[in-house]
Amino acid sequence: MSLLTKQQEKLVQRARDFVQTELLPLEKEVEKSGGISSESSNEIIRKSRQEGLFAANIDRRFGGGGLTTLDNVLLQEQFGATKEILARRAAGNIYECIKEGTAEQIERFLIPSIRGDRHSALAVSEPEAGSDAASITTRAVRCDAGWILNGRKYFISDADFCDYFIVAAVTQPDLGPRGISLFLVDRSQQGFSYGKSFNMLGFKGTTHRELIFNNLILGKDALLGEENDGFRILGDTLGKARLSKVGARAIGKCHRLLYLMKKHAQDRQQFSKALIDFGQIKQMIVDSNIEISAARALLLQTAKEIDTGLDSRAAISQVKILATETLGRVADRAVQVFGASGCHDEEVIESFYRDARLYRIIDGTSEIHMNIIAKGLKRSVGPCFVAS
Ligand SMILES: Cc1cc2nc3c(=O)[nH]c(=O)nc-3n(C[C@H](O)[C@H](O)[C@H](O)COP(=O)(O)OP(=O)(O)OC[C@H]3O[C@@H](n4cnc5c(N)ncnc54)[C@H](O)[C@@H]3O)c2cc1C
Repeated sequence: MSLLTKQQEKLVQRARDFVQTELLPLEKEVEKSGGISSESSNEIIRKSRQEGLFAANIDRRFGGGGLTTLDNVLLQEQFGATKEILARRAAGNIYECIKEGTAEQIERFLIPSIRGDRHSALAVSEPEAGSDAASITTRAVRCDAGWILNGRKYFISDADFCDYFIVAAVTQPDLGPRGISLFLVDRSQQGFSYGKSFNMLGFKGTTHRELIFNNLILGKDALLGEENDGFRILGDTLGKARLSKVGARAIGKCHRLLYLMKKHAQDRQQFSKALIDFGQIKQMIVDSNIEISAARALLLQTAKEIDTGLDSRAAISQVKILATETLGRVADRAVQVFGASGCHDEEVIESFYRDARLYRIIDGTSEIHMNIIAKGLKRSVGPCFVAS
């Protein structure tokens, strides 16, 4: 019996069909050519919009799909079963923080992104500021026109594909994290240039670039939300994205790896026996099954909590850790079960193994999420017995 509603089952089926017919056939192209053509990107976006799967997390009043967090997590799990670049194109990488913008910003940036006409990235990390995001030095200083922006951002995902960036910059240096603001920066603006290109371990097809802002003049209308409120905005809006783009997609990858492991262990024979009949192989598959089920249960529970309005920051961190660390173990076992066949680039196992490593670093490392959970635990000792 399924725990999903009829509507959720239909959504999942639609997404699964889309992944199978539209995205899986492109996986080889991504791995071999190191990306997908702009024609393929546009086609994915067009078809995903047609199916009602694009920008599904964004409110209907802006033209998005208006899915609940739980429904979006169910959708992103399906997208997670394929390569990150394909999942990104099909889902649309739209940041909810733009909703905090003015009507004009929503019109210029959010609405075209929901239509699939404009694409954005979030630019926080810098050469000297990673986990400690409050230590960024990119600076926005007031001028007559608005702001002058100077600084460098590192590792920005999909930067080549993007038309604009949501840039975190210091506006009041003496206030630490409370002196950081967000700006909407068009890549066509004078003073913007790309710097280094990082060839990452995984996520083939997605570029990771350095962005350089050199005396870039921003109008007053480039400020997103209130001045010095950037960290609060990111804190309030990134959690849900973390749950769906990272947690749910990691679980989607786990499911595909588990399926491939089970199939291979039944199909391949050694010593006149199917691999599944060797206890050590069985153990790897059973352990994976248990761990994926536990991580998925926490993922869905947390999504439901968000939809009921509960404060879920620590729970999101738990999902981030459990889902991505589970993916790491499952991908490692999948390579083992496949042997040499899991080590070359004709099988998705090899690329998921590389991608899995990145999942524990992106969107806050496991250690940083552990610190968030620990802070919550320190604040409240909790009940001695199981709480209701
Ligand atoms: C594939 C990929 C895509 C990315 N895309 C983007 C993007 O689009 N936009 C963007 O802004 N950034 C992006 N990043 C950067 C990402 O946000 C950072 O990698 C991440 O915040 C960690 O920072 P760091 O890599 O500088 O590691 P560091 O902060 O230098 O940390 C190094 C190690 O020290 C540990 N550590 C640090 N502080 C503590 C602490 N207090 N307690 C315990 N351990 C600690 C970390 O957990 C880690 O293990 C991307 C990174 C990757 C790998």
